[in-house]
Amino acid sequence: MNGKCLCGGVEFQLEEPIPNLYQCHCSLCRKLSGSASDTAMFISRDQFRWVRGLDRISSFRTPTGYRSDFCSGCGSTVPHLMSNTTHFWAPAGLLEGDIDGKVVAHLCTESKASWDEISGEAECFNEMPELERLMHLLHGGEETVDGEWEESQAASAEV
Ligand SMILES: [Zn+2]
Ligand SMILES: [Zn+2]
Repeated sequence: MNGKCLCGGVEFQLEEPIPNLYQCHCSLCRKLSGSASDTAMFISRDQFRWVRGLDRISSFRTPTGYRSDFCSGCGSTVPHLMSNTTHFWAPAGLLEGDIDGKVVAHLCTESKASWDEISGEAECFNEMPELERLMHLLHGGEETVDGEWEESQAASAEV
């Protein structure tokens, strides 16, 4: 499955299976997306490959560490390797085709925009859940973060 920015200058390839997605409704993700939320996945470094355009990517970070990488040609948000993990963060809207994965989590619903209506069966989190907990949801419990993820941690992170 390939993904491309709006101008096509940045392209990447994801190896199947494509994981499930989350939508984050926090104020930062709203500004990043220009919409109600961003929709993204965490995909293993082993399943990710840049095809072209790495030299076109600019990076923005807030003092608190929130990061946005984007195509300097068209401004589309593009994937980045998450610090201290073995996974890429990848925006779902760049994918060029249909996937089996679906939105399974809504994050930071407490700070959603007043006009944003969340529906469906995905799990809702008032704030940002633990990364491990989220990873567990997105990957159906089969994926680990840095290989340190264990079932026992999932249970303790349960809200
Ligand atoms: Zn572009
Ligand atoms: Zn967010």
